[in-house]
Order: sequence, then structure tokens, then C-alpha cells
Amino acid sequence: AAKSTRGNQYRLYRDNMDEANDKWLLLETKLHQALKQDRLELHYQPKIDLKTDTVIGMEALLRWYDPELGHIPPDRFIPFAEECGLINDIGVWVLHKACAQARFWNEAHNLTLRVAVNISPIHISTSSFVDMVCEVIAETGIDPHLLEIEITEMSMLDYTEDLIDTIKQLRALGITISLDDFGTGYSSLNYLKKFPVDVLKIDRAFVRDIVPEKSGIAMISAMISLAHALNLQVVAEGVEEEAELNVLREHGCEYVQGYYFSKPLSVDDFTDLIVNSVTK
Ligand code: C2E
Ligand code: MG
Ligand code: MG
Ligand code: MG
Repeated sequence: AAKSTRGNQYRLYRDNMDEANDKWLLLETKLHQALKQDRLELHYQPKIDLKTDTVIGMEALLRWYDPELGHIPPDRFIPFAEECGLINDIGVWVLHKACAQARFWNEAHNLTLRVAVNISPIHISTSSFVDMVCEVIAETGIDPHLLEIEITEMSMLDYTEDLIDTIKQLRALGITISLDDFGTGYSSLNYLKKFPVDVLKIDRAFVRDIVPEKSGIAMISAMISLAHALNLQVVAEGVEEEAELNVLREHGCEYVQGYYFSKPLSVDDFTDLIVNSVTK
């Protein structure tokens, strides 16, 4: 009896493995096709300058809809793309698309919006990254001062001198570098000294903590002070409520993003937003 049980368990294990492999392969094929057939989409979330209460730029956020699988959130497929090796091609696609779109909006509406693109630590660590960015700048005609690259704090975890060098080269081109999800990773303040970034993006987990009874305000205030002491600008992510906004304003946060102002918008909806705010 024991033997047959083990046999069944083995079979079960094998079937699960095969199933997992099939699923993985299916997802990889689908993502690869979506990329090649231009079926990925970018949405854009406005960034608001709290000094002027105007939209000064937008973050490009990737969207993937598959007819069979439905909407797959980037928090799920980006890590997958990093594992199966598609992330570099996706990064190039996103960069190109976002720069072309930003250039178009700025020309069409006589604006100087800065577009922010999320780049995987894997991608930015490739040796040809800076050359690729230069090509995209040349092809799309975007002013590099209107391009921002967001890298997560995770990128710094096992950083190399090469990565620091890459960041310096990008900044020398005029590109803004932001540290995304600040406060959530394995951040050591020591990294901040070494990494020549321009902007700290405070993760929404800290914004969520802004309620009077908690120490959240002290934390936000300290993060903003730290950034300013290091000559960095501050963006707060995930602002959903007026009370959060007021605290951020009071403590000198420069920029905010969040549902309070707007969700990430399709190209058409973002166009409506800028047209309306220009004519207002
Ligand atoms: P992120 O770069 O930190 O982007 C912010 C995320 O917070 C976005 O989720 C955005 O939709 C969401 N968000 C913005 N405001 C609010 C708010 O007020 N409340 C709440 N609850 N959420 C808000 P999204 O679009 O699902 O993206 C998740 C993550 O996936 C991004 O985090 C980024 O790490 C990654 N990602 C998205 N697009 C790309 C891409 O093109 N390339 C790479 N490498 N990663 C990407
Ligand atoms: Mg981001
Ligand atoms: Mg973030
Ligand atoms: Mg994130």
C-alpha cells in the first residue's frame, strides 16, 4: 500500500510540475507575442507640482491585457519578465513609446512635460544601456531634460561601480534619475550618499501612514528633510486623500502622484486632461 501511495504522489508531483511548466511557457509565449505585436499599452499618471498645483509630468505604467487571461498587473508580469529574460526588450519598448508620446504631447500642446519611465535593475545593469537610451533620444527627438528614469531601491542592493557609472552618464545627458519605492527596500542611508540620484519617491506605504494618531507624520517629515538635506527633490506616491496632501504640503514635499488627483490614464484620457488644463 505504501508503495502505491508513493507512486501516486510521484505522479501527482510530476503532473503539477508539467502543469507549472506549461503555464510558464504559455505566459512567456503570450508576453513575447504581446510585445512583438505591439499589444502592450502604456498608461500615464500625472505628477503634480505642489507649488503651482499644475501637472508637470507623468509616469508611464505598463498595461497588459490578454484576451484569455484578462488584465495582468505589472507587479505580476514584470518580475516574470525579469526571470524569463524579456525585461530588456520590454524596457526598450516602453522607453521608446513613452519618449515618442511625450514628444508628441509637448509639441502638440506647447508643453514641457517630463515623462518618467520605470527601468528594471537588470536592464539598467546591461553594458549597452546608455547607448540604447541615446538611440531612443535620437529616434524620438525628446529633450533628455524631459526624460526621467525611475529605478527601485532594490537596484542598489547589489550595486556595482558600473551601475553608478551608468547613472552618472545618464545624468550627464540631462536625464533625471529617481529612486522609486524609497523606504521599502533594504535601504541603507549609506547607499544614498553613493548614488547620484535627483529625486526620492516616497513609497505609498508611508503616505498611507499619514494619520494623526500615528508616527507616520514624523516619518514622512524626516524623509522629506533627509531628501532636502541631500539636495534631492521629493515625490510622494499614492496620495489618495486631502489630509495626506495637506501634511505633505506642510512639510515641503515638491511633487505628488496619486488617485486623489488622477489614476494612471490611457493616452486618450491623458490627452483630455492636458487639453482641459491648458484651456482652463
Ligand atoms: P511604481 O513604479 O512604484 O508605480 C506606482 C504604482 O502605484 C502603480 O501601480 C500605480 O498605478 C499605483 N498608484 C498610483 N497612485 C496610487 C494611489 O493613489 N493609490 C494606490 N493604491 N496605487 C496607486 P501599477 O501601474 O500597477 O505598477 C506597479 C509596479 O509595476 C510599478 O510600481 C513598477 O514597479 C512596475 N512597473 C509598471 N510599469 C512598468 C514598466 O514599464 N517597466 C518596469 N520595469 N516596471 C513597471
Ligand atoms: Mg515608478
Ligand atoms: Mg513606486
Ligand atoms: Mg512599486
